[in-house]
Amino acid sequence: MTFSAAEEFALQMDREDSLRSFRARFEIPTNAAGEALIYFVGNSLGLMPKATRQSVDQELDDWAHFAVDGHFAAATPWYSYHETLRKPAARLVGALPHEVVCMNSLTVNLHLLMATFYRPTKARCKILMEEPAFPSDTYAIRSQMVHHGFDPDQCLVLARPREGEATICQEDIEVILDREGDEIALVLFAGVNFFTGQLFDIAAITAAAQRKGCVVGIDLAHAAGNVPLQLHEWQVDFAAWCSYKYLNAGPGAVAGAYVHERHARNRELPRFAGWWGNDPATRFRMQLEPEFVPVQSADAWQISNPPILAMAPLRTSLAIFDDAGGVAALRQKSVRLTGYFQFLLDRAPSQLFTVITPRESGQRGCQLSILVHEHPKELFEKLEAAGVKTDFREPNVIRAAPTPLYNTFHEVWRCARILAEHS
Ligand SMILES: *Cc1c(COP(=O)(O)O)cnc(C)c1O
Repeated sequence: MTFSAAEEFALQMDREDSLRSFRARFEIPTNAAGEALIYFVGNSLGLMPKATRQSVDQELDDWAHFAVDGHFAAATPWYSYHETLRKPAARLVGALPHEVVCMNSLTVNLHLLMATFYRPTKARCKILMEEPAFPSDTYAIRSQMVHHGFDPDQCLVLARPREGEATICQEDIEVILDREGDEIALVLFAGVNFFTGQLFDIAAITAAAQRKGCVVGIDLAHAAGNVPLQLHEWQVDFAAWCSYKYLNAGPGAVAGAYVHERHARNRELPRFAGWWGNDPATRFRMQLEPEFVPVQSADAWQISNPPILAMAPLRTSLAIFDDAGGVAALRQKSVRLTGYFQFLLDRAPSQLFTVITPRESGQRGCQLSILVHEHPKELFEKLEAAGVKTDFREPNVIRAAPTPLYNTFHEVWRCARILAEHS
């Protein structure tokens, strides 16, 4: 693809964009003058689809109308409401429907999945993760180690960028696995790193880790809805993601979890149980059949009855992904959009900033992480004042994530112009 820095080129790209109509499906925040902000923080909280209000209203109306009978009489019966999310969520992550369940929030799901898949022994107690990692993942992992009576300082193994580099070499991950794999119980890696935007080779990490007998879990917080995934084919053991970033399901939205079918069908696995993980055939036998019989799907990790009011926005947002043709179609635009951003930033004077996200589109999602050499906070504030929403990560990185569902090439052009004018 040959890009041009001319404004007209960006406008032409927007005219030719087959996904351009999707922007109108979202509420775009505005400044005091009523002008649309350039919203590049869909990696933090995705925009609200206009249809969401109606989908939540529907559940409120059904509750008002039917009360307890809504479990079966609601427009979408609450008893099986979570079933409606299964297939669209499975398509997003490349899983079989019964490998996926939408429930809880991300860190909670990581804990529930670790309760099953992190079973440390003296000989094999370590967890390998990447650095820098999102703090919640580090807290969750370290607390699991303590919970099992192990010392996190001994058990946590970190894959880091090399000296002077920002991103992690695949080769270095494999070196760690070769060296320490026999002592590593679990590899819990991000799909896309939150800080650098690096997309890891999940298939290769999974294969290398499993060769050493490690279980592999992937945190897809910055990958779900952003990059194509094939969890089932890649043999990933388990995964979890949140739905308020690229999935646009709203603040604190209901998260997702995946368990490969070879585990999902296994009734012998230890897990934290609740009635919504029980086989539906006997779920309502209650005191008559008090023994927990896990359903043979990812639903077995579900504990409580699902929050319908919170699931309605997720249902709406997953439908938008299907309407757009799925992640594969969005990814085509995303690669161009972020590639254009990179092209424009490359033209800025090199002393201003360095993009630390990998240059290869196959090694990143839509986010670019821009390391600003001088007065980084000022530049961030300048963007903010100009109506460009990005976020700032101490000490000097601006993260900007143009998303294919609602961002435009012209927005990328305008953002890049402000960045390049910085001095
Ligand atoms: C966003 C994010 C979280 C957030 O966790 P919640 O449980 O949803 O609050 C956790 N981990 C990573 C890697 C994230 O990017």
